[in-house]
Amino acid sequence: MSFKTHTEGGSWTGGGTEVPNCSTTEIAAIRAAINFYNSSGVPCVRSIGGLEALANCLSSKNEANITLDCRNSTCNGAFGTTNSRGGSEVTFCDPALPPSGLQQDTDVTLFHEFIHTCNGMELDAWALENHCYQGHGTITPSAGVVNGFMGETSDIGNGLRASEFLLWEPATGRVFVKIQSGGSWNSSPTYTRGNELNVNNRAYMVPPPAGGSWI
Ligand SMILES: [Zn+2]
Repeated sequence: MSFKTHTEGGSWTGGGTEVPNCSTTEIAAIRAAINFYNSSGVPCVRSIGGLEALANCLSSKNEANITLDCRNSTCNGAFGTTNSRGGSEVTFCDPALPPSGLQQDTDVTLFHEFIHTCNGMELDAWALENHCYQGHGTITPSAGVVNGFMGETSDIGNGLRASEFLLWEPATGRVFVKIQSGGSWNSSPTYTRGNELNVNNRAYMVPPPAGGSWI
C-alpha cells in the first residue's frame, strides 16, 4: 500500500533501491488532495443525507490502505483510474498532476477515484464530484460519459435508473440519493428518491434536450 515503487540500481542478484513512481512534487499534490478530501470531500458526502455508508467507507480510505501510482499504462487519456470497482489501487494521470494539472485537478480526481474504491459506479463518482467539487476542478460529463451511465445503471421503473448509491432520472437529468427499504431472501428491496444532488441537469439528460447544444 501507499505510494507504488519500482527498483532502481542493483543487479541480477538483487539489491537496488525502491523509488516511488510518483515524483516528490506529485506526492505533495496527492497528499494535499487527501487533506482536502478529508476536510471538504468526505464531509460534503456526509452532509447530503442518506449516504452515511458511503461517507463511512470514504473516510476509511487513506495513504496506508490505497496503493497510489502516477502516469502508468492504465491512463490512456484519463485524469485517473482505479484498478476495479471496490479496488485499492488508484493511478493519477498527466491531466491530474503538476505541472499539467492544477491542485484542484488532483483534488477532484482523488475524490472521483476514491468513490470507485468504495464500489461507486461512474454515475456515483461523476454526480458526487459535480455536487461536492463545484468550482473546484469538476467538469460536466460529456455526452459519451452520460450515455455510459445507461449501460452501468439498472432500470427500476418509474423512469428511474439505479447506480450503487444514487437514482437517476434520464428524462430530466435529475440525480437523487438512493434510499433502500425492505428486501429479504425472497423479495427485492424498494428504492425511493432521497435528497437531490446539484448537477447540470441538461448534461445528464438522455435523450439530450431538443434544440441547442448538449452543454
Ligand atoms: Zn470514474
